[in-house]
Amino acid sequence: MRFLLALILLVSAPLPALAAQAARLKVTVLSTMMADQGVGEWGYAALVEVDGRKILYDTGARPETVLANARELKIDLSDVEDVVLSHHHGDHTGGFLVLRKALAARNPKALTRVHVAEGFFLAGGQGYRPAIPRFRADLEAAGATFIVHKDPVEIAPGVWLTGPVPRETGEKNYPQGWRLAGGGEDDVPEDMAMVFDTADGVVALSGCGHAGVVNIVRRARSIAGGKPLLALIGGLHTFALNDERLDWTGAELRAAGVRYMLLGHCTGIEATLRLRQATGLTRRTAAYGATGATYELGKGIDARPIAG
Ligand SMILES: [Zn+2]
Ligand SMILES: [Zn+2]
Repeated sequence: MRFLLALILLVSAPLPALAAQAARLKVTVLSTMMADQGVGEWGYAALVEVDGRKILYDTGARPETVLANARELKIDLSDVEDVVLSHHHGDHTGGFLVLRKALAARNPKALTRVHVAEGFFLAGGQGYRPAIPRFRADLEAAGATFIVHKDPVEIAPGVWLTGPVPRETGEKNYPQGWRLAGGGEDDVPEDMAMVFDTADGVVALSGCGHAGVVNIVRRARSIAGGKPLLALIGGLHTFALNDERLDWTGAELRAAGVRYMLLGHCTGIEATLRLRQATGLTRRTAAYGATGATYELGKGIDARPIAG
């Protein structure tokens, strides 16, 4: 009898809630420095396709780049309603207004839900943060609504935004010598990555990586309950790091378990090669991708022919 009771208790005990996971994920680069189809620029943008939903992460630097590259790559952006802006530097926000206006004709809701992290609207940064009040007013007049996040947030099952990333390491991967009005030397407190919690591990998508890639990876893994890092995508702002800092960064990424890197933008070519070496990855699993480069869950990276 006692055994039966125990059995009944065991069967009726509530199951631990399973965190939602992303099951299908594809990231396609739409703006970066290198191009073998479309045009390259100092900027970044990527289209995220996750479980039937599309999200634009950053919008490139020049007004027309993402629009032109999407057209050339035969990618339709008119059904994208969510935009995530990694931070307020012009090389990530410059294409937004033109994109919104161009796509609104086909879908009034296109690019209208805009996710940013707290600090995004702070002024300063030696003019590299474009005229912020005007940027906001122009986009709101064009139909966009800004949502400011101060904590990690799950915007779809298994799809997270980091919010502002805690600075735990000594990384200084932000522009040197620029200051916010009345602020410290780190002029990008709002730097925000996207995080995808999958059965195979965590995928992190970074715009410029000003918060420090190791800080970003720590935040991403903690969001996903400590899972290993499956893939790291985007800009890391490591182009100016010396070999010692790059090797430290690579060792940290290796310890986090990284299996794929599709890097671009301000990561730097030499830094990418050095990070590949330090992580023990290969040319098939880690590369500096061109426009149109993809990472796909279950398939890995296609960095485009020019990446080798
Ligand atoms: Zn930046
Ligand atoms: Zn950048």
